[in-house]
Amino acid sequence: MKCIINGRVILADKTIDGFAVVFDEKIEKIVPASEINLNDYEVIDAAGNYVAPGLVDIHIHGYWGEDASDGNTEGLVKMSTGIAENGVTAWCPTTMTVSKEEIETAFNCAREVKNSDEYYGARILGVNSEGPFINPSKKGAQSADHILRPDADFILENADIVKVFTVAPEVEGGLECIKKVSEDGRVLVSMGHTNATYEEANAGIEAGVRHTTHLFNAMTALMHRNPGVVGAALSDERVSTELIADTFHVNKGLFKLVSKIKGNKLCLITDCMRAGGMPDGDYTLGGQPVHKEGIQCLMPDGTIAGSVLKLNEAVYNLYSNTDLPIEAAVAAASLNPAMAIGEDKEIGSLEVGKRADIIIADDKFNILKTIIGGYTRYEQ
Ligand SMILES: [Zn+2]
Repeated sequence: MKCIINGRVILADKTIDGFAVVFDEKIEKIVPASEINLNDYEVIDAAGNYVAPGLVDIHIHGYWGEDASDGNTEGLVKMSTGIAENGVTAWCPTTMTVSKEEIETAFNCAREVKNSDEYYGARILGVNSEGPFINPSKKGAQSADHILRPDADFILENADIVKVFTVAPEVEGGLECIKKVSEDGRVLVSMGHTNATYEEANAGIEAGVRHTTHLFNAMTALMHRNPGVVGAALSDERVSTELIADTFHVNKGLFKLVSKIKGNKLCLITDCMRAGGMPDGDYTLGGQPVHKEGIQCLMPDGTIAGSVLKLNEAVYNLYSNTDLPIEAAVAAASLNPAMAIGEDKEIGSLEVGKRADIIIADDKFNILKTIIGGYTRYEQ
């Protein structure tokens, strides 16, 4: 049995000092450090740093040169290892609008790695299928060639691995697809890459949309006479929203507003592409060329193409640009996304009985240590 002492322990609703987090593969207890005999444990000294739940990234395409759409298991394993350095302990490899065959291959790779016990990085929860059921006019960095009419059966046939998928509610067949998948109940329906009006977005929500793919990006904006998808997503409390909090995709001035409105329905994501964790230079996203410079990834025509954001940086960006307490900023990248995809009984917060996915981070939320299922998998 192991225990972490001398940390500022971030629980779901408060941060506490003087407590020991005791764990094996699961969290066994969180008690005042004075109540346990340290000789009974393998002790980890957090040295005054934060002890927080492992982060959960439900929308990430790539890292360390790899991409979930490439269709190889080694790439997924490498990404799992890479993002553990950013405090991520569970994730959803995210496919792009590539051909149906390539999407199926990517799903199969995710199945294989998820069910393998021979990888030690962040655990794969399931896949996020971003497209191919989107609106060509809001395709962003997605390829127009492979966009398909929404097909609920494709998602339901793969519901063992797909956790969330993106659909534009206004395209032909959109509402039927949303209805069928949401009635089945296994896969979270997200609206995104959409040109819907406010009314069309609300019709999508009535049909079963419960999530929003990167709020603000690749969707109709909030205008005072046309509130758009952003207006619908912010107004309906049943709907969770992703946010790419890199300060480039969305102005940091909006972080406070969005977090106030969405509360525990705000999910920080990275939307990171294969240039994540890599030097500046030329890369591809879903087969299209992208140039990375600093925090920006652009296609030749200037379209923003994913990010190189790290999820621990997103937590700090949210925390430092709002008046949220640290536990709420952390929950936006752990408990909230876990809740959105129905994994919160197992992961997402430091709670007795949950999996021992634990990170230690400094004041700026740099990751010092990542513990996955009770084992240290990264140490600075
Ligand atoms: Zn994406």
